[in-house]
Amino acid sequence: MIITNYIIQMKNSIFITSVCLLFCLTFQPLSAQKNPKNVIFLIGDGMGIAQVYAGMVANGNHLELERCTYSGFSKTYSSNKFTTDSGAGGTALACGVKTKNGMIGMNPDSVAVQSILELASKNNLSTGIVVACAVTHATPASYIAHQINRDMYEEIATDYLKTNIDVFIGGGRKYFEDRTDNRNLTNELKAKNYQIAYTLKDVKAVKIGKLAGLLYDDQNPGIPERGTMLPDATEASINILSNNKKGFFLMVEGSQIDWAAHDNNTQQIIKEMLDFDQTIGKALDFAKKDGNTLVIITADHETGGMTILDGKFGSDMLKAAFTTKSHSGVPVPVFAYGPGAENFSGFMENISFKGKIEKLLKLKK
Ligand code: MG
Ligand code: ZN
Repeated sequence: MIITNYIIQMKNSIFITSVCLLFCLTFQPLSAQKNPKNVIFLIGDGMGIAQVYAGMVANGNHLELERCTYSGFSKTYSSNKFTTDSGAGGTALACGVKTKNGMIGMNPDSVAVQSILELASKNNLSTGIVVACAVTHATPASYIAHQINRDMYEEIATDYLKTNIDVFIGGGRKYFEDRTDNRNLTNELKAKNYQIAYTLKDVKAVKIGKLAGLLYDDQNPGIPERGTMLPDATEASINILSNNKKGFFLMVEGSQIDWAAHDNNTQQIIKEMLDFDQTIGKALDFAKKDGNTLVIITADHETGGMTILDGKFGSDMLKAAFTTKSHSGVPVPVFAYGPGAENFSGFMENISFKGKIEKLLKLKK
């Protein structure tokens, strides 16, 4: 009898525990709806699903970005073309407006539109840009500059001086120092308390404060010549920006997946994709440890109209086919991890990222 009672009590307590557990699990989404403090936004230029999978197959059926818990698709058309360029594509992601191909940080009427980076900076968050190309190239320019044409590299470089960006690292030194107007923007950056780095070693030595990393005279070289520039500079930037307890916004670009895809060069696409994935790994490592960081990964457009016909896991033996030497109009993948990641699933417009990030970071206009 005593034993029977004891068993009944046990059963009751198990039942109550189970109910509590079920209740907690059911209502967990409410408590999980916390806002991120930091956002790391990674753009694989030209990175469609075939480029992602090419990297995954070559890497033995695994990529760092598989750690993301939500995924979706972004529609990439611009205001005047079905198939976007990186100017309009970057502007859509950065500023939340569809614009004409070739334009940077402006709406189709040539009116400047504030980017998410500029808004974050205005709200006293730290901000950064790390890219595998010149910092004046279309994608990074979309976050910092407002120009009618993406080829206006010297004007775009000048726009860096008009902002309060904390860290920017990439190539394009000559657009700051060897200019037709004879201005030396590096000296002007120094006067604004920027530390200047010309090498990756110099970048790694900086732990706090403002940093302008101009690592190459013009465009960065591709992989393998570029080495671990992108993952290392990303890690260094996260270390610097995370000093700000209010939070940070960092944009990172795997710039040359696009260039390899323009060349329809499968082996180079794999190399650039895996370099970008290593960089994604750095962002996800920080986000996991930090717990307050949202990581979003997407592309501005697909390049090459690439598909994969055959492959072998763990080998770069990949049979790919391309339908163009230019960009294609297909939607691109989106991956997200961290608080707020659930907002980046399903089909979305490329202009929806800015508003969502703005809301999640509780930025005031
Ligand atoms: Mg780009
Ligand atoms: Zn391109």
